[in-house]
Amino acid sequence: MHELAIAESMITIVQDEMAKHGLTQVSKIKIVYGEISAIVPEALETAFAMLTANTSLHQAIIELEMKPMAVRCGQCSHEFEPPAEERVLIPCPQCSNILGHEIIAGRELYIEYLEAENPKEAK
Ligand SMILES: [Zn+2]
Repeated sequence: MHELAIAESMITIVQDEMAKHGLTQVSKIKIVYGEISAIVPEALETAFAMLTANTSLHQAIIELEMKPMAVRCGQCSHEFEPPAEERVLIPCPQCSNILGHEIIAGRELYIEYLEAENPKEAK
């Protein structure tokens, strides 16, 4: 279950950000993952819940957003999102070429933003 390792490194990033900005609480963590990034969202949520159970992050809501796969045609450079059922041979809607497409989206995995409660001292 590689989601555990992913959650672990994301929590490190979140805690670094909190320290940098003097935050004591994070209410929401928004994570974007690509359709073909091999992330199982439920597993990632479970991993977060496990790893944050005894930390200041245990109340944080994890919001996951899936980014669809997009490719650029190897022939005419047309950019498109192939339908879910076409994952092995993907014909370009513009020139019908099926070879040499470059994947331009769908592999991402990153924290988009944190929603934090500011410490009482700060305005
Ligand atoms: Zn094309």
